[in-house]
Amino acid sequence: MNALVHRVSSQVAAIDLPPAEELDRALRDASPSDIIAAAFALLKVMADVDRSIPVIFLDTGWLFEETLAYRDTLIEALGLTDVRSIKPLEETLAREDSEGDLWFSDPDACCRIRKVEPLARALKPFGAWINGRKRFQGGARAMIPVVEQDGVRLKFNPFANLSREEIEAIYETAKLPPHPLVASGYLSVGCMPCTSRTAPDDDTRAGRWRGRNKTECGIHTMKTS
Ligand code: SF4
Repeated sequence: MNALVHRVSSQVAAIDLPPAEELDRALRDASPSDIIAAAFALLKVMADVDRSIPVIFLDTGWLFEETLAYRDTLIEALGLTDVRSIKPLEETLAREDSEGDLWFSDPDACCRIRKVEPLARALKPFGAWINGRKRFQGGARAMIPVVEQDGVRLKFNPFANLSREEIEAIYETAKLPPHPLVASGYLSVGCMPCTSRTAPDDDTRAGRWRGRNKTECGIHTMKTS
């Protein structure tokens, strides 16, 4: 899933949050469970927190069939009850990508209308969100903090410190299947036109936007408001 968020009620938005840098310093070497516990503890003192965790799934319109099937596999395996599949607005697609080739002519604009704007809309009611980026993924992710300020909300990266092997161990313990395309040589799976297979010694995300001067879609580099 692309993003995991927790709802906070609007009346607690006025409560002072600790600065993201302070939280990040305190949690820099903490385990994922401790970081998530800290996020929840923080949210609990801020608001009446819903029991079920809303999960945002960004359906760009260009995902592999296997990814959509994998979403449904994880929903069932994890018993998720509030998965929100978010799509780009039809009118935006008609206006800015009527031929469906924006991914080729201007991938930054394509990511903006298919990922960044839909996520920003979906995050509006929330005061914090959790995502799954890891430092071992390299590139701009090599230095991510575990907590950061993202516009008006906090962003938690509880898996930042983990190695690929530790992530695989979590999947194994939870008996979760890997994405079906991993077995076909895809180490990181994004949209179909912008994802290619990777060699075993490649960076995890080397197959994303291969041959282009682009490594991120923008949801982690543009601050949401
Ligand atoms: S990853 Fe490619 S197809 Fe997907 S939104 Fe970005 S540019 Fe468009």
